[in-house]
Amino acid sequence: MTEYANKGTQIRFFNSMTRRIEVFKPICDDQTRIYSCGPTVYNYAHIGNLRAYVFTDTLRRFLNWKGQTVTHVINITDVGHLTSDEDAGEDKMELASQSMEKDIWQIAEYFTQAFKSDLSQLNVLRPTLWSTATDHIHDMIAFARVLEDSGVTYELATGLYFDTTKVPNYGSLALTPREGQEEGARVDPIAGKRNATDFAIWRRSPSEGKRQMEWLSPWGPGAPGWHLECSVMSMKYLGSRFDIHTGGIDHREIHHCNEIAQNQAYAGHAHSGANGWMHNNFLIDRSGKMSKSKGDFSTLSSLIARGIHPLAFRLMCLSTHYRSELEFSIETLAGQLVRLKRLVGAISSLSQQVESDSWMRIPAELGFSSGAAFTYPRTVLEQKLSPHGEKLLDGFDREMSEDLMTPRALPFLDETINHGQLCAEEKLRILASMDLVFGLKLFETRRCDLALRPKDASLSASEVEVLLEQRQQSRRAKDFSNADAIRNRLHAAGIEMMDGQEPSWEWRPLLR
Ligand code: AMP
Ligand code: ZN
Repeated sequence: MTEYANKGTQIRFFNSMTRRIEVFKPICDDQTRIYSCGPTVYNYAHIGNLRAYVFTDTLRRFLNWKGQTVTHVINITDVGHLTSDEDAGEDKMELASQSMEKDIWQIAEYFTQAFKSDLSQLNVLRPTLWSTATDHIHDMIAFARVLEDSGVTYELATGLYFDTTKVPNYGSLALTPREGQEEGARVDPIAGKRNATDFAIWRRSPSEGKRQMEWLSPWGPGAPGWHLECSVMSMKYLGSRFDIHTGGIDHREIHHCNEIAQNQAYAGHAHSGANGWMHNNFLIDRSGKMSKSKGDFSTLSSLIARGIHPLAFRLMCLSTHYRSELEFSIETLAGQLVRLKRLVGAISSLSQQVESDSWMRIPAELGFSSGAAFTYPRTVLEQKLSPHGEKLLDGFDREMSEDLMTPRALPFLDETINHGQLCAEEKLRILASMDLVFGLKLFETRRCDLALRPKDASLSASEVEVLLEQRQQSRRAKDFSNADAIRNRLHAAGIEMMDGQEPSWEWRPLLR
């Protein structure tokens, strides 16, 4: 048996803290503990947010592939996040509740479920633990008391604040130091705050009016500051030193600096939380960084309504390195859909070349769809690989081990499919192994599953298939006028043929 994962390339990740690519050494041998900042559930996640979780999921899958058991915690922020990361403005959840005229708890529940459903459509593995902020208020109060006792806080009429001058090297994670920044340049400053970088640990409710979400505390009725939850929940479930903390690069500037300050004040200077901090770059579109507060953003459902399968978005994320900006356009995404269809089509034709159907057991044995039960794909590699097969998997491993270089690892799928000296069964085993990391469901998906019709398409899926077949026959019979007539009909129904591409059955949703 080839113990592939054990002899593979050493893993190296970029650590935002040291600003270097470093060899990854888990604290406990073959166990990796990861904490990922979760969404604030006052609206749907946009596809930029979803990029953050496709990245984390790829990280987790790859570590699994290398033989690591991963404990992964994602939090749900259902309280405490203000419209400004710099601790001013209004509570995002309270605002959403007013504008949607719904109870704040219903809003949190609704958007939490919508988020989880998006992740499952993107084949993101369930975390070991979903951890919700409002379930940890008492832990947060206890944590804040320790901070208070250690002398790093001060109280104002508006609540309890962290004095950032009390921890050495505050903000060293941030790319842009904030010392000189004018306080409250964007939103109302807080009277009495000692330093611009100080932040709320506890936000006392205003004397007039009651918040929908508020709790009693030694600092009056109110709600925790946003940064507190991540320190408390990561420490509670993963310990004061764990392996990797993830989030988008916006978190690198404020949120994670504040988490680190809290952790150090609570557990000692050596305990900044994670050994490694990994941040994904933004998804941007023509108007710049996608953000919920801009209001005009794309959701996964809006892509689906245009006939784009969610896994095409996953493939799009993988096609750009996680530390680079991902430029989103619907045209590029439609291109990824076609790429995905080709991969799925190629795998299904390879499977037809294999006499036994033993390969079909591979995805089930590997727990492709079982979420938490995901384990190292030993069975895929049970039979020894040929030197060609080893070379392919080595190349894939090399690229992924170098800071998750997915854009350079993806072409190994095509290289495997097109390899002249490998039998179909070995190809399938290698592809299945790689797809454990990519999570594209290449084995479980059929080409027709990817053929989502745009919401406004007027033909049913089976009518589309029939027309495509007829068009193919007409082309074979050189009856081009009929072939063109069919193409026009499909066009009118929201389906665009990928002319000039072989095989001629490739199509994509018509982009309007
Ligand atoms: P939020 O719900 O705003 O707390 O964000 C959830 C996650 O998405 C965080 O890790 C953010 O850093 C990340 N994020 C927010 N906007 C983008 C974007 N445009 N591109 C990539 N990641 C983002
Ligand atoms: Zn966080």
